[in-house]
Amino acid sequence: MSRIYNFSAGPSMLPVEVLEQCAAEMLDYNGSGMSVMEMSHRSPVYDAIIKETEADFRKLMNIPDNYKVLFLQGGASTQFAAVPLNLMKTGKADYVVSGQFSKKAYKEAQKYGDAKCIASSEDRTYAYIPEITPDMVREDADYVHVCYNNTIFGTKYPEVPNVGDKVLVADMSSCITSEPVDVTKFGCIYAGAQKNMAPAGLTVVIIREDLLGAEKEFTPVMLSYKEMAEADSMYNTPPCYAIYVAGLVYKWALKNGGLEAMKKRNEEKAALLYDYIDSSKLFKATADKKYRSMMNVCFVTGDADLDKKFCKEAEAAGLSNLKGHRSVGGMRASIYNAMPKEGVEKLVEFMKAFEAANA
Ligand SMILES: *Cc1c(COP(=O)(O)O)cnc(C)c1O
Repeated sequence: MSRIYNFSAGPSMLPVEVLEQCAAEMLDYNGSGMSVMEMSHRSPVYDAIIKETEADFRKLMNIPDNYKVLFLQGGASTQFAAVPLNLMKTGKADYVVSGQFSKKAYKEAQKYGDAKCIASSEDRTYAYIPEITPDMVREDADYVHVCYNNTIFGTKYPEVPNVGDKVLVADMSSCITSEPVDVTKFGCIYAGAQKNMAPAGLTVVIIREDLLGAEKEFTPVMLSYKEMAEADSMYNTPPCYAIYVAGLVYKWALKNGGLEAMKKRNEEKAALLYDYIDSSKLFKATADKKYRSMMNVCFVTGDADLDKKFCKEAEAAGLSNLKGHRSVGGMRASIYNAMPKEGVEKLVEFMKAFEAANA
């Protein structure tokens, strides 16, 4: 068996130990005589799985008791609609547009009320995070929506944006569990799990309890946070297997030191890559230094043909999925929690050799 280093932005690498455990438990989970894939979500065995998964997630993210954790489906993109449906009480919400996903979220919210873009970094192809201050937020806005880590452009908020006493909503799809966050600063956090936590199919929502119950009348049951919270994410069949794998990933992260340790590892990995890129004459990072993401490292040579050659040769060397998003071109190395340091070291070695051969 030879595993490659997969730099995909998502779905992405999972810890090998987790995959091994999934394989070992595939035919007979814990003496049940069946796979978790085959199990009724209403069975006692599965009930224990989902409860333990939530408990471990709460421990890992230090989620206070006055927040609900929801295990949903539909991806982060479904939350672009669910957020305004549930939280636009008076019909106004402010959006920061810092990349393609936040722009989509903003567009979707416009269908349900008065969504306003209060800051954007589109002028420079989202190479930075537009900073906001409380006075930029409309007085009667129900919430402010941000995308905490911009997967496509490789930028992230250096700190939690200050929105005064407004409810802050964050799409954390590509950075959740990469470092500690103070959950109490947010009213709602959501994330597609397929980047840093699990296989595709699971979307996690963390929502402050007092925000529940304000959904628009016509909100589909499946998108109602209140209904889902009341049903403990079991209104219908949840994404059972993805939840089980997420649970294993949470245990893996806890065993390896929790989010402080994840942060340290992630900082080290990102520094390896950025330090080399900054010293390189061939490669250039595209995001402004202050806003660089630890998870998605975007870079270019400045020559589209050379970028293409780089990706092709890297692929052949077992460094996979380095092509940048089609909207920006160049390269993107996604180095989530499960990417080992050796993967980044191999990538840097390869880049050095490529630079020497193509200078
Ligand atoms: C991937 C991603 C999305 C879209 O996620 P889906 O689960 O595919 O809908 C949204 N926001 C961010 C920040 C992402 O990285």
